[in-house]
Amino acid sequence: MDQVSDTTTTTAPVDASVPATATGVLTVDLGAIVANWRKLENKGVPAECAAVVKADAYGCGTEPVVRALAAAGCKTFFVATADEARAARAATRSAAIYVLGGCFQNGGDTFAELNCQPVIGDLNELAEWDVFCRRSGWTGGAAIHIDTGMNRLGLTLQDAQGLVPRIRAGDHGITLVMSHLACADTPQHPLNARQLLAFREIAQQFTGVPASLANSSGCFLGSEFQFDLLRPGAALYGVNPTPEADNPMRPVVDVKTRIIQVRDVERGDTVGYGGTWTARRPTRLAIVASGYADGYFRAAGGSDGTRSAEAVVAGQRCPIAGRVSMDLIALDITDLPDNAARRGHMATLIGDGITVDELGHHFGTIGYEVLTSLGRRYARVHKGGAT
Ligand SMILES: *Cc1c(COP(=O)(O)O)cnc(C)c1O
Repeated sequence: MDQVSDTTTTTAPVDASVPATATGVLTVDLGAIVANWRKLENKGVPAECAAVVKADAYGCGTEPVVRALAAAGCKTFFVATADEARAARAATRSAAIYVLGGCFQNGGDTFAELNCQPVIGDLNELAEWDVFCRRSGWTGGAAIHIDTGMNRLGLTLQDAQGLVPRIRAGDHGITLVMSHLACADTPQHPLNARQLLAFREIAQQFTGVPASLANSSGCFLGSEFQFDLLRPGAALYGVNPTPEADNPMRPVVDVKTRIIQVRDVERGDTVGYGGTWTARRPTRLAIVASGYADGYFRAAGGSDGTRSAEAVVAGQRCPIAGRVSMDLIALDITDLPDNAARRGHMATLIGDGITVDELGHHFGTIGYEVLTSLGRRYARVHKGGAT
């Protein structure tokens, strides 16, 4: 038997199901995504809870995620683009699918073909959409996005006010009215209350049209932010929606990468590009098969005098030695027992207590970008899900 089956160590050996050539394994826990969705759904009652699955479900895989959430009872999904709507539609026949980026010129046919709804963000777009609906006879409806302070997409409050007579007249083709919070992860930020007030005032004039304001963090700002439909994304995938408190969500993503070489270097040797990290003692390194091309940002590397990100090897956290390369990272495993980590074993980059939020900190970004950057070279495994 080779060393992979050695059970005297606690290093994760390579699972028999991992392809022999895989550089690592990215596991998405669909059961955790469903549990996270249920948690927000329960919190929001009587509001409905949608799921935002843009950007390939924040890197977790649109089709398996939509399938699992639809099976759990989710009836409304949000994507960013029409192409993403196509992927979502492949996983659910009946759920409503909203496209946050709206409908581009001449894009209407695709919305009809996929039976999905644009989130319309200005009056020109609405006029184009109305023409398309009149010419084609399509009655699938659209959402209206109103800007209340984000200054990104959305009708101005004045433009939205101008639509009120159309809503009052009935047969308006508007299935949802929504706005988006700019500072929901900072509960004390004054913009939250201002956006809430502005949205409440306009939304209540859209009589009979369901209203939606809260993203993940918005779900935690209080029941007055919940309206008729919650729109969480990041929290479903394990990002902490309450950065100033403990994370109420379950972790979803686990990334393990393969140790492809163990080597010893002498005191005074440098490691990696630029020679920015110097061994201050005889040092043992594990070279793992991930790098910035796998979404592990270069910012997380370690040079002399800085604190790098860590990976878990044989149950212990080990710092990165030197710069993160495109395809490789060196881990300082000197403090592990001899032979605890060997060629062919796995090191954990995300999981075993390393959260996407923690990595985001080391990457100089947020958990969201850690997720949407997740590498395409890993073997991907989806486990769990609603049964
Ligand atoms: C991305 C997005 C969401 C989801 O935001 P999270 O912070 O990931 O929960 C909700 N609404 C809109 C308009 C978005 O663009």
